[in-house]
Amino acid sequence: MFEGLSEKLSGILDGLTRRGTLSEEDVNLALREVRRALLEADVALDVVRSFVDKVKNRAVGANVVKSVTPGQMVIKIVNDVLIETLGSDAQPIDLDAPPPVAIMMVGLQGAGKTTTSAKIAKRLTELQKRRVLMASLDVKRPAAQEQLAVLGRQVGIDTLPIIAGQTPVQIAKRAEEAARLQGYDVVMLDTAGRTHIDEALMAEMVEIKRAANPHEILLVADSLTGQDAVNLAKNFDDRVGITGIVLTRVDGDGRGGAALSMRAVTGKPIKLLGTGEKMDALEDFHPNRIANRILG
Ligand code: GDP
Repeated sequence: MFEGLSEKLSGILDGLTRRGTLSEEDVNLALREVRRALLEADVALDVVRSFVDKVKNRAVGANVVKSVTPGQMVIKIVNDVLIETLGSDAQPIDLDAPPPVAIMMVGLQGAGKTTTSAKIAKRLTELQKRRVLMASLDVKRPAAQEQLAVLGRQVGIDTLPIIAGQTPVQIAKRAEEAARLQGYDVVMLDTAGRTHIDEALMAEMVEIKRAANPHEILLVADSLTGQDAVNLAKNFDDRVGITGIVLTRVDGDGRGGAALSMRAVTGKPIKLLGTGEKMDALEDFHPNRIANRILG
């Protein structure tokens, strides 16, 4: 992830440190190149603008060109602004609510909702010793509920027994009740997706949210779709309300524009990254580590 951007930014910033003294023109030129590199990485235009403005203002404020190590100072400022753009602090999944804590997974078809549900359930079980029950609320695709059951067996997580003919809301209520009666800490609700956003999908999500009262609503978005993923997150947030984002397929995303724009555009944190098809290919999103990765 970020290979292209990382290479370019490192090149631009290395150029600055090698020069020793810097003029204002040198800094402006470098920032123009930073701007271009961010746009090529598919970062949203508004985010690029505000990024470059922030770096410029701080560089002026810190009187960078008169300092002893101007290049180093610019790098430090770029690093700080990157971390802020990415969201400052890591935001883990919040389970601070009376059990069973419901986590609702939303997103388009094929984004990785079902896979990510099983990955999260596995992680909460293994690392946080929670008892997790998973339920598929996807009654549109006949194979969806079975797919979750198969993944559940694979990772050793219980799934709600399938009863044909129930509505998503009925399944959500049954999951909550089963989790409560059987002493589960967490219930993961894997909802149905569509190939694109439509009113019926949003209405269904709102209805499930009302019935299940989830503590977390995580949008699962494919990072390869770049700015579409960001617009999708904004749409879901406006219509349903989300608490965080899981960005999947970052293993194939050399640009990283979605990851860089997501927080600034939606105001919602990226909580996790999907980094592969395997069940342990899930990473916490640490803005400082990502910034390090970008700046090399
Ligand atoms: P859903 O329709 O949103 O539930 O999507 P699925 O969970 O069925 O995932 C669709 C496909 O994407 C599957 O083949 C997954 O193995 C794959 N997938 C999910 N997450 C990732 C990821 O982070 N990286 C990669 N490379 N593949 C993923």
